[in-house]
This record gives sequence, structure tokens and C-alpha cells, in this order.
Amino acid sequence: MLPKDKSTTPSSKSSTASRPGGLDTPVQFVKGVGPRLAAIFNNREIKTIRDLLTFFPRAYEDRTRLLAIQELTEGQKASVAVRILSSRKIPMRQSGRFFFETRCTDGTDGKDTLSLKWFHLPRGLETRLTPNAQVIVTGVVKFFMNQREIVHPEITWKPGTDVASVGRIVPVYIEIEGVPTRVLRKILWEALEKYSRLLSEDLPLHYRGQHQLPLLSEAVRTIHFPPESTSSEMNIHGVDQLVAFNTPAHWRLIYEEFFKFEYLVLRQRLHMEREAATAFHVSTDSNATKDLTHSLPFRLTLDQKKAVEEILADLSQPHPMNRLIQGDVGCGKTAVAFLAAGTVLAEGGQAALMAPTEILAEQHYTNASHIFGKKLNTVLLTGKTPSAERTQIQLRLESGEPLLLIGTHALIEQPVQFKDLAFIIIDEQHRFGVEQRRTLRKKGTRLDPSSGRILHPHMLIMSATPIPRTLALTAYGDLSISTIHEMPPGRSPVKTRVFWGSAKNEAYEKIRQELKKGHQAYFIYPLIHESEAEGFTHLKSAIQEANRLAQEVFPEFKVGLLHGQLKPDEKASIMNQFKKNELQVLVSTTVVEVGVDVPNATMMAVEHAERFGLSQLHQLRGRVGRGTVQSHCFLFAHAHTGEVTTQRLNVLEETSDGFQIAEADLELRGPGEFLGVRQSGSLPFKLANLVRDQAWLLKARNDVQDLLRKDPDLNAPEHLPLRRYYEREGSLQFERLKTS
Ligand code: ADP
Ligand code: MG
Repeated sequence: MLPKDKSTTPSSKSSTASRPGGLDTPVQFVKGVGPRLAAIFNNREIKTIRDLLTFFPRAYEDRTRLLAIQELTEGQKASVAVRILSSRKIPMRQSGRFFFETRCTDGTDGKDTLSLKWFHLPRGLETRLTPNAQVIVTGVVKFFMNQREIVHPEITWKPGTDVASVGRIVPVYIEIEGVPTRVLRKILWEALEKYSRLLSEDLPLHYRGQHQLPLLSEAVRTIHFPPESTSSEMNIHGVDQLVAFNTPAHWRLIYEEFFKFEYLVLRQRLHMEREAATAFHVSTDSNATKDLTHSLPFRLTLDQKKAVEEILADLSQPHPMNRLIQGDVGCGKTAVAFLAAGTVLAEGGQAALMAPTEILAEQHYTNASHIFGKKLNTVLLTGKTPSAERTQIQLRLESGEPLLLIGTHALIEQPVQFKDLAFIIIDEQHRFGVEQRRTLRKKGTRLDPSSGRILHPHMLIMSATPIPRTLALTAYGDLSISTIHEMPPGRSPVKTRVFWGSAKNEAYEKIRQELKKGHQAYFIYPLIHESEAEGFTHLKSAIQEANRLAQEVFPEFKVGLLHGQLKPDEKASIMNQFKKNELQVLVSTTVVEVGVDVPNATMMAVEHAERFGLSQLHQLRGRVGRGTVQSHCFLFAHAHTGEVTTQRLNVLEETSDGFQIAEADLELRGPGEFLGVRQSGSLPFKLANLVRDQAWLLKARNDVQDLLRKDPDLNAPEHLPLRRYYEREGSLQFERLKTS
């Protein structure tokens, strides 16, 4: 009953789909779905038959075998064919309400009995559970007063007719309120019977064949209702493989999701390569680069050198760079960015560096001026810049003077115009949204009078959160990546310990010892959404804690408090006091960027560590350990948080490798942590999982690269179905991901 190979008849899909009775038909037309269920489905974004068919099971249950009552064990989920013996209402002592109990048996002698209980009796059930009725019941078995029972079992009324729910491996879906599981299975069964053959192939036949993957229609059917032959072939492991999403049907769909996504990502990359940008005649041998490098008060690490090389190589190309430098806090990304910027200025281009906070922007400005002096023509623009100075800066920018403009959001918010903005650097990229990056990029989009072409700026973005490899290939696949693994010499890894529950005093004592030696400490409180009520109580608790630390715990030292509701100059003043060691302890909420360099701070204490992502904690920890003295990080966590939390925090005690931590984070918490404002939702995968399915991701990516080499615009007849797919679905998901 499989459809004939429709991938060779390109037009079949869209025409079949849009025809009445095609895959775009509203769900309401599936047998068993009336207006009421249709409304419920619509609320869950299941609008068409296509949506319904691709509402995939999240797990499976083995109901290939009906069990005998006698075999049932405690806690087991099982299906049993039974005959009803009796039913009755039983009053509950406390509430005065009733529960409903049905006793049944599976033998003629009625010796083995099973009790079924309902505390909320579905309408109409009572009248149907009459003596001698034959049904199949499914549920979790419990022992109550030595009697086997199932509470709220699933009932199949006419044994032998409900093929979707008994006698097979059955799918388990995410619960949809108002649609009982059994009904949902039946609806899917109906829909698959009637419509699955319309699911034609978008994937180029060639690649699917290479991996010996089943046809889409077959894969979708199998994934909902694994056929018996499959289950017996896979014998006892059948369910395990299904539950692990590790069957050819799953592979097919996972591969397809990756394939379709990678095409968009890699095409975007190709697209940028087709755009024009100023090609600078630069390399690490350029005089300007050498000169700037000599001004540095240190020698670049090998990774820094390599990053500079990669950036300069990109800048010498006539199309825009789109590169990310990733590396742990303190690895020296800024120096790399400055060298690249200086090289561009020497070639007559203008550059801009945008940082997320005033403190950071000022720090960059001060460092640049301090290190390079006149060799790097730099100006600072923040919300604080007086308007006379701003006008002055504006004039210089318009004149085309080669300079590096360092600033905050002010760079995009102010009506700043450049003459020739050729190079953009974004620090702490995760703190900015796609729109903000785009706005800045537009300021560098300009007409090249000599060639008449539109030029785009080169982009360099920096991040201290290492991106797991799989994300680098998907969500960040449109970027080239330079990685700085190596830390500047003379730093020793921060010693990390998790303190559970009330074991804090020991940590306080350790901190006191260090403070006595003249070192400084940070205390961090989680404060994620300041404006929300929850955030407000945290702010209160941060203030209270600051007082408590000042008065009760460290009365002999000076404690300062930094939070997002302070005015910018208040923040700067507190930060400066900490820098000058006028404050020994700095209590801060996480909304405040403590990205400033205070080498004398050797202690980092984080409250409610269980609320943070591992990478975030790792970043916080990177604020200490900047000098040569041994630094410590203390993570305070609640004792009664779950297993996952324990496992998570221990990773930090064990490793200081940001990449390993990022991988663990991805595995434990999913990609949300890393996407940040880059993408408001999650990746558009229904089945694919970046960690579990890495191998398929790599295969899909390889194949897409091959496809892009051969037919980037999908003009060949065998690629038309894929092109139609993109035309039909648009590339909405991807739009949100783009860096530029
Ligand atoms: P991040 O990568 O976190 O932005 P920074 O660029 O702020 O790191 O560098 C952190 C500190 O390390 C700065 O004080 C910087 O001057 C210093 N630094 C950078 N590179 C080196 C190096 N190769 N050797 C020694 N110190 C360095
Ligand atoms: Mg930095």
C-alpha cells in the first residue's frame, strides 16, 4: 500500500496537498474528530491533517501481549482481558463522596480477580460496566490489601476492534487535555489509514537512498503504529529501540529535520559569501598588526594568534566576515578584537565595538587607550556622553576619519552615522538581540561609489559561553568560529565546591581567611527578571543579604551592593570602589555585568546555584582566578533539590573546561541556555535531539554541503520537491536565527 515513488513527480505534493482531501485539509474532517475536538486540536497548533500526522509519539508501550491477572506485579503497566463480575459505589468516610469499584476476573472460575477504581467516574461508564461485560483494561497495577487493582484504567470496550490500542506496541503521546489517549490513538489510526500515502518525499531521493532510510509515508506510519513484523524482528528490544527513538523510521524523520534545517543555515552562509564587503590587504605580517602586537604588555597565546590570523584572513576577502570568537572569561578575546580593529583602521576603514553595559564599554575604552595610546584611534560613546561631545563624534564619523567607536546600545539608539563602517565587533553577543545586531550592521551597509555595489560590514562577535559542537553546526551554523582554549599563562584553575543546605558557615570562614590576607570576594544572587514580582523579592533578599553579610558575617570588612536598579553612575562608583579595594565584599545580582577585571578578587560565592545554568555559573566563576593566587568558588544550593541538580553542580567541581561544561548543560537542560536572545523559542525539531542524534546531524550536514555544491538554488528536477517545501513552509524558523 506504499505510494509509488512520488519523489520523481515533483508537482505531486503541493497539488495533492492543496486539493480538497489533501494534507492541508482541516483536522475536523478526520473520522472521529468533530468540531469540539477540532477546536482542542487547533489550540495545540494541530490544524491540518499534516499537523496531525506529524504529532509524533513521545514514547511507546508494549501491549503485544495481554497478561493474566495472576501474572500482574506491583507497579507494572499492563493490559488484561477481563469479564466484569460486579460494580458498586463505595462511600468515602472523610468527604462523604463516593468512589466507584468494579471487580472482574479473567477465568471462568472467577478465582483471580482484579479491582478497578474510579475516583472521578467518567460519564456513562457506570451503565456500561455491567456484570459479564467483556473489556480490555490497561493501567498501572497496584496491590491494595493483598488485592490487585488498577486506578482509572483505560478501557477498550469491544476486544478485537480497537486495533490502535491493544495487542500491539502502542504509541504514547503528549497528553492533550480533553482528548483521551485511546481516542487520540484511534483518530491517528484513521488519519494514517486515509492520508499517510499522501505524504510524499521532499528529500532528494539520492541522499535518502544512501542511508537506506524508509519512505516518509512508511516512516510516519511506523512511528505511530510500529507494525508487528517490526516488533517481532526487533523482538524483545523492540520497545526499547522505539522508546530510544532508535529505529529506521525515527532515523528517517530525524535526518529529514536536520537536513531541512542545515540547508537553510548553510545557504545563509553561502548567501553572505555572495555579498560584497571591503577586502582589506591585511595579514599578520601587516606593519600595523605587528606594531599593535608589540604594544601589548604580554605575548599572545597561540590560540589568540590563530584567532587573529583567521580574522585577518576573513577581512582580506571581498565578502563579509561573520565570525564568532568563543573562549572562557579571561582568555583574552578583547586583545584579539583590538588588533583586528587596529588593522582595519590602518587601512582607512572605520570600526565599532558594542558592549552590553557602560562599565564594560568604559573598561574597553580605558584599556585600548592605555595599551595602544595613539596607535589606536578610539572614541567612547555611551548614554552618558554629553551632547556637545556627541556632535563632535558624529562629525568625525561622517568625515570618514578611521576610528574605533566603542560604546553601548547608544551606538544603535543614537542617530549615529558612519561614512565607512567596515568592521563591527559585538562583545558578549548573547546579551544582544538579533534586531540590535541587524541595526548596527545596517549602519555599515553602504554604496561603494567606485564599483556601484552595496558593501556590507565585516562582523566579529564574541562570547564567553562556549557553544557545544552540535549547536555550532545548527543554531550557529551560519557563523565561522574561532576558539580560544588556552588561558594566558600564570592562571591556576579556580577550586570549586558545592555547599548543600545550611553548611554555609564553613564557606564563610574560608572566605574570611582570604579576606584577612587582603583578597576580595563576590557574592552573587540570582535575579533574572527584575520587573517581575519574583525578581522583586529576590532583589529584596539581595539587599537583606548584603546587610546580613555586612553586619553579622563580615563586620570587620566593607560590603557593597550592586543591582540593576541603581543609576549608572552609582553602579560605576561601587564598581570603582571594589576595584580600588575600598570594598572587600561585593554583593551583586546577576543582572549586573561583573565583567570587569579585578585580579585581587579571589572568592566567588553564588547563592541559589541550582537556579543557574552550568555555563552561566562557569562564567561567574571566571570573574575570579585572574591573578596568580589560588581562587575559590563556592556554590550554595538547596539541599532538597532534585537528582539532576546534584549531577549538574558536580560537573563544576570536576572540570574547568568550558566546553565540557557546555556539553553537559546541553544534555541536562537543552539548547535554551545557549540560544538566549538569539532565538526566542527553541530549535524547530520535533523528534531530533542534538545530543542523542549527533551522528545524524553530521550525516545531514555533509549531504547538504554536497547538495549546495551541486545545486544551491534547487533548480534540478530532483530537487524541486524540496524547493516546493521551502516555498510552502517559508523559512520562518530560520529568519529568527539569522545573525544579520
Ligand atoms: P575576555 O576573553 O574575557 O574578554 P579579556 O580580553 O578581558 O578576556 O582579557 C582578560 C585579561 O587578560 C585582561 O586583563 C587582558 O589584558 C589579559 N590578557 C589577555 N591576553 C593575555 C595574554 N596573552 N597574556 C597575559 N594576559 C593577557
Ligand atoms: Mg570580555
